[in-house]
Amino acid sequence: MKKIGLAIHGGAGTIRRSTMSRILEKEYIKGLKNSLVAGWKVISKGGSSLDAVCESVVILENNPLFNAGKGSVFTNEGKNEMDAAIMDGRNLESGAIAGVMGIKNPILLAKEIMQKSEFAFLSGNGAEKFAKKMKLQSENEKYFFTQKRWEQLQKAKKSGKAFLDHTDFDKNLKNKYYGTVGAVALDQHGNLAAATSTGGMTNKMFGRIGDSPLNGIGNYANNKTAAISCTGSGEYFIKLTVAFRISALMEYKKLSLKKAVEQVILKELVKINGDGGVIAIDNKGNINLTFNSEGMYRGSMNDSETFIGIY
Ligand code: ASP
Repeated sequence: MKKIGLAIHGGAGTIRRSTMSRILEKEYIKGLKNSLVAGWKVISKGGSSLDAVCESVVILENNPLFNAGKGSVFTNEGKNEMDAAIMDGRNLESGAIAGVMGIKNPILLAKEIMQKSEFAFLSGNGAEKFAKKMKLQSENEKYFFTQKRWEQLQKAKKSGKAFLDHTDFDKNLKNKYYGTVGAVALDQHGNLAAATSTGGMTNKMFGRIGDSPLNGIGNYANNKTAAISCTGSGEYFIKLTVAFRISALMEYKKLSLKKAVEQVILKELVKINGDGGVIAIDNKGNINLTFNSEGMYRGSMNDSETFIGIY
């Protein structure tokens, strides 16, 4: 059997063991594990990497702990505007959405756009209209309301700034957490896929779009190289076209996945003060989970090992 593998993330940032309660830590680990198991079920039975990354991301979107789908943060107008992207490494086909409201699983909408429309990227009302046509499940504002996110918005509003996910407003305004979710996978057929989904930033100006729905930046898959999903300060990831940069270093400079990821995340991104990380898997099944922040909710699975990490 050919090598298969899967990696997931639930965001990066100032995540410290010292400020995390045991109960919450357990909840995060459970959430990450459920996501890994769901994706693994697909690829271990011979299914596609594309279906596997969707399964993994849907589980995280349905979990209010993560800033995607149900747990999405609020814009300055008190709405949940979600972004998502998916990419198929076989043919570089991609699908993405930005600024979408009321869709239970944004990643499934991105997939429908890739597979059933003539477009690669739809935003706002247009994307919502397409979701209706595809009969995707919608949810009302109540579904997306979480008390924790609402309180974060009130605090962020007082400070007059936009923050990345569940920033620890009370203790240190510099602490940042990025709760975006993502998955990358390699299937038995040698195909790579990547999926990323997010609510963006707390108190973001309506209409703000980060790196997550931008294929080539926050999300990328190419069978020649790797599948990559990013989390972190979107504006900096955009500056460096992070995901494609990693792939290009592999394709044109013949760097290994590890070397390419480390050059971009630990050197180039650090140089411009960008923080966050990536999960990546190459076409041989090598997995890399690298971040330059204090922590990243992450997990990976292949035939020989299952790993879940936070700090
Ligand atoms: N990259 C995301 C954004 O800028 C945030 C995150 O990773 O949580 O919207």
